[in-house]
Parts: sequence; structure tokens; C-alpha cells
Amino acid sequence: APRTLVVISLENVVEIETAYGAQLTDDLLCELSLRLLERLGAGSEVYRSHHHQLAALPNHGGGDVEARLTLLSEAFAQPFSLGGTVLHGDIYMGYAELSDREQDAERCLRQAEVALCSASERSRRLVRFTPALDPARVRENLALLGELKAGLEQGQLALHYQPKVCLASGAIVGVEALMRWQHPQRGNVPPGKFIPRAEQSTLIDQLTEWAIDSALAQLAAWHAQGIELRMAVNISARNLLQPGFVDSILGLLDKHGIAGHWLELEITESALMQDIEHTTRELTRLANRQLTLSIDDFGTGYSSLQYLSDLPVSVLKIDQRFMKQLCSTSDSVHIVRAALNLAHDLGMQVVAEGVEDPCAYAFLADIGCDLAQGYLISRPAPAEAFSAWYRAGGGRYCLA
Ligand code: C2E
Ligand code: MG
Ligand code: MG
Repeated sequence: APRTLVVISLENVVEIETAYGAQLTDDLLCELSLRLLERLGAGSEVYRSHHHQLAALPNHGGGDVEARLTLLSEAFAQPFSLGGTVLHGDIYMGYAELSDREQDAERCLRQAEVALCSASERSRRLVRFTPALDPARVRENLALLGELKAGLEQGQLALHYQPKVCLASGAIVGVEALMRWQHPQRGNVPPGKFIPRAEQSTLIDQLTEWAIDSALAQLAAWHAQGIELRMAVNISARNLLQPGFVDSILGLLDKHGIAGHWLELEITESALMQDIEHTTRELTRLANRQLTLSIDDFGTGYSSLQYLSDLPVSVLKIDQRFMKQLCSTSDSVHIVRAALNLAHDLGMQVVAEGVEDPCAYAFLADIGCDLAQGYLISRPAPAEAFSAWYRAGGGRYCLA
């Protein structure tokens, strides 16, 4: 069987070194390596592979590596006691498989370190190296992020608009702005590819500001043409944590002369759960200015609706994965119905996302869902194409 190489670091080691100095950090790593040797058992080896990092080669015994390493991380729940100072330090680990070939050791260490980086970025205890984490791919992603800023400045980003229809009346009442990146060499890069990357840096703040600014400019133009719609823009968790974010939105509304109730912000369930106190404060300021706040992708996280209802949100968007099987007999029917009833009891409006087939549309209308959005009605389209479509239908959608 191939051996495993695992690299281990303490979550707060930099903080500890800053606060207590290098000597204590050395002692801590010593203590850590003794504990590791003890837990891993005879025949295991532990090295210091880096200033703040240990590397271990567990012995062959003990079966499943993942399970062994998970147990190992739990074993570090007890604090370290060093010369009268008691410190708590959670460890995180990255590991990779080591082949017998001598020359592979260096490469394997790098792979385990890449996995360790990923563990610390994603706040996971343990990450196994996979090719997706490969430095070449990571470089590719970093390059993409580097080009994104230039792309923003050079006008490579655009917004496409997808309508939301009122199921009771057929009226088109709103649109969601979805970001598109037309890259000169890579072609059309979908938001799922660059937004999560941008969210790991402050670039997301610029992207969101650009999106809100552009969407409001478009909205003002439509309003002037008699197309009265509410505009929804997606925002990221990180945006809410940025100081001045709320002020910048209010400033943009003023700049375009648009009242708050025309703007809706869509925030995913998981984003809402980060730093809930701060988030509530910021969202309340926006709600006080009549902005609509909605929970995007509802049903993909683990939060309860009851909990989310304490936030000043007034719209719930049920995730598209529940729409796929609405017409076959499945649990989705019950889930959608239950979410709808609960949301209504809490005074929230409900939007069904990703509606692709007529039968789902009819079902949603039948159970009293408020709005629907999806390819069935229209794919997201550039502003011109959207307004042509809107005019052709007289601002209404009719299920054929
Ligand atoms: P989302 O906000 O949940 O947007 C809905 C996604 O579902 C969009 O994908 C849309 O094109 C797609 N969609 C709509 N109707 C259907 C349908 O009937 N079937 C299927 N299969 N898909 C449908 P898109 O445009 O690729 O965006 C993906 C995600 O990227 C968005 O999910 C949103 O989370 C994020 N995103 C897009 N634009 C922005 C933005 O300006 N800022 C931020 N922070 N995130 C954005
Ligand atoms: Mg959305
Ligand atoms: Mg969604």
C-alpha cells in the first residue's frame, strides 16, 4: 500500500508566535510532534518541514487513513500547557499519497502542502490532495482572478437579465441581473467560475459595486421607457462585511434617482448565516430604506426558516433543484409546499427558481407560489433582447 504524507499546522500559530515569540512556538511544535508520534504509533515519523509546519509519515498499520487522521485531529482538542501558559490550538492537515519512487518525495510534500492550504482556506480540518488542487490549476485560477480586474476595467463584464413572473396574474414584475464575463481569449466565462474566486479577495467588492451601478443605470433607462420592474442583484457574504457597503448602495440609488423599493438584493442562505449580528444590523438599514432583501438558493443550506425569519428578509427563493422533479411523484412536492406555507405564515413572498417545464409552472400557480423564474419563461438575456421580449409580450407571460 502507498504511504501517506501528511503536513500539519496549528490554526493560530502566527498569532501565537506574534504574541509569545519564537521560543514558545518552537516548544509548542515540539510538544505537538511528541503528541503526533504517540498517537500515530511506533514506526511513524515526524519532521519539521517548515517554520510553522510539521510533516508526518504514519506507520503502515491502522487501516483507513482518512479515519485515522480524523481521529488524530480530535486528539488535539486538549490545550497545550507550556511554562505556565495554556494554549488552545486546533490543527489542520493536508495529505497526499507517497509512491515508492524516491524522486516523488519532494512532489508529494508539495501536494500535501497544497492540500493544507486548501484546508486552511476552507476552514476544514483535513483535506486530501486531489488534482483539482494541483498548483497548475491553482495558478490558472489565480491568473483568472488577475485578469478579472483588468476585464472589469476594460468593459468585458456585462449583466444579463432574467424575468420574474407573478403566477397569479402573469405580469412580469421583476428581473434578476446575472453577471457575464466575455473574456477575449477564454470566451464566455460563467459566474460560477469567477465569482467564488473573486469572493476570496476584495475584488468582489468592486464587482458588486459595478453590478449595482450598472443594474440601476439600466433600471433608470427602463423606467424612463415605461418598463416598470424591480431589479434584483446578487450580493456576496463578503460584501456585507465590507465597511461602507450599505452607504455605497444608498449612494448609488441617489446617483440614479431610484427609490429603494425598486432594488432587491439576493443573498444566499449560507452568506446570511455568517456573522449574523452584523448582517442583521446592515440588512436592517437597507430594509429601513425599503429595499427588498431575499434569501437565494433556499434549501441548499442547513438553516431553519424560523431562524432566517428573524432577519429583515421578505422574499424566499426556493432553489432550482427542487423544481426538477416537481412533476414526477417525489419529495420535492412536499418540500416546496411546506417551504411555501411556512414562508407565507412568516409573511414572506416566495419565488420558485429554475422553472423549466410547464407542468411545474402550473403546479406552482396551483399551490399559490407568488413568483416564478426560469428558462421556461426566459433565459437570462442582454438588456436589449430582454426589453424586446418584454414589449412583445406586453409585459406579461402566458403559459402556452
Ligand atoms: P443564482 O443567483 O441562484 O442565479 C440563478 C442561476 O440559475 C443563474 O445562473 C441562471 O442563469 C440559472 N437559471 C435560471 N433559470 C434556470 C433554469 O430554468 N434552469 C437552469 N438549469 N438554470 C437556470 P448563472 O447566471 O450562471 O449564475 C450562477 C450564480 O452565480 C448565481 O446563482 C449567483 O449566485 C452567482 N452570480 C451571478 N451573477 C452574480 C453577481 O452579479 N454577483 C454575485 N455576487 N453573484 C452572482
Ligand atoms: Mg440569485
Ligand atoms: Mg439561486
